[in-house]
Amino acid sequence: MSKTLKLGLVGIGKIARDQHLPAIAADAGFELVACASRHAQVEGVRNYPTIDALLAAEPQLDAISLCAPPQVRYAQARAALAAGKHVMLEKPPGASLHEVEVLRDTARKAGRTLFASWHSRHAPAVEPARAWLASREIRSVDVYWKEDVRKWHPGQEWIWQPGGLGVFDPGINALSIVTRILPHEMVLTSATLFVPANTQTPIAANLVFADEYGAPVRAEFDWRHGPREQWEIAVQTSDGSLRIEAGGKLLEIDGASVDIGPEREYPSLYAHWRALIERGEDDVDVRPLRHVADACLLGTHREVEPFAD
Ligand code: NAP
Repeated sequence: MSKTLKLGLVGIGKIARDQHLPAIAADAGFELVACASRHAQVEGVRNYPTIDALLAAEPQLDAISLCAPPQVRYAQARAALAAGKHVMLEKPPGASLHEVEVLRDTARKAGRTLFASWHSRHAPAVEPARAWLASREIRSVDVYWKEDVRKWHPGQEWIWQPGGLGVFDPGINALSIVTRILPHEMVLTSATLFVPANTQTPIAANLVFADEYGAPVRAEFDWRHGPREQWEIAVQTSDGSLRIEAGGKLLEIDGASVDIGPEREYPSLYAHWRALIERGEDDVDVRPLRHVADACLLGTHREVEPFAD
């Protein structure tokens, strides 16, 4: 059995409590030793108000998992790498593309594992979909990623601020799946961003890509949706159709449901990170964030009514 990795968890908010803490508790390969958060504390471990205090007080830690919003990811990751830790980044891996690339190079020079995680890629539909699509000719892809922002991001001011991504915060999950399952690269051709009059980031976005052979990939992201979220990806090929539903928990091929097993995204993320550390490898794929950045570069902005939480 390989060594148990002593872990620090930083940014104790919704995703840390909903997913990271249970996944870590269930993984014998990690021992949660300490947490850092300005206001929150986790029972049963040592707690610090900042990552710097945590790193100074806990030099024996092997690895740090970062769950705070993207705007502070770069500074926190740099501090952890400078202290010699392996680092896992929640998605999106940063507030800008270049900072993620600098982190990747810094980690490589330091001989540490940087894992820019995309939890939706670990949904059970993703690898079977990728295998099924690998030998098929893609005709079209339609992505519908729609949810109620008040249900999924209550009171989260950072998502409306620069670097917070707005509706791309969930939309990037769809892009992380699409970039994993499609056999070819795709390039953005147009985008429309719907930005409330009182926010810095979009509440909805429509994107159109073309894959390398010209097949359209259309995406509709919308936070003004009802209580039943729609997280779907439909792919038409020359030889049948595929539909991913419920964010990757369900898979249909030619209209028939496929048995893909239970959802275990975060346990799978931590297992993957541990395997990367054991092999001395990293995993930093910035393509989903690059597509969002391209939408911001190429997109037409439409002002919509102010958002009230
Ligand atoms: P959240 O509930 O706002 O929690 C993040 C925590 O980070 C906050 O509670 C806060 O804790 C800390 N934090 C906030 N601003 C900070 C700052 N400026 N400096 C240092 N710490 C700060 O957000 P979340 O939903 O957990 O999302 C965090 C990340 O996880 C995002 O990148 C998001 O995309 C990703 N994610 C979220 C979900 C989801 O369903 N919510 C799912 C998957 C991934 P303290 O005030 O105690 O410091």
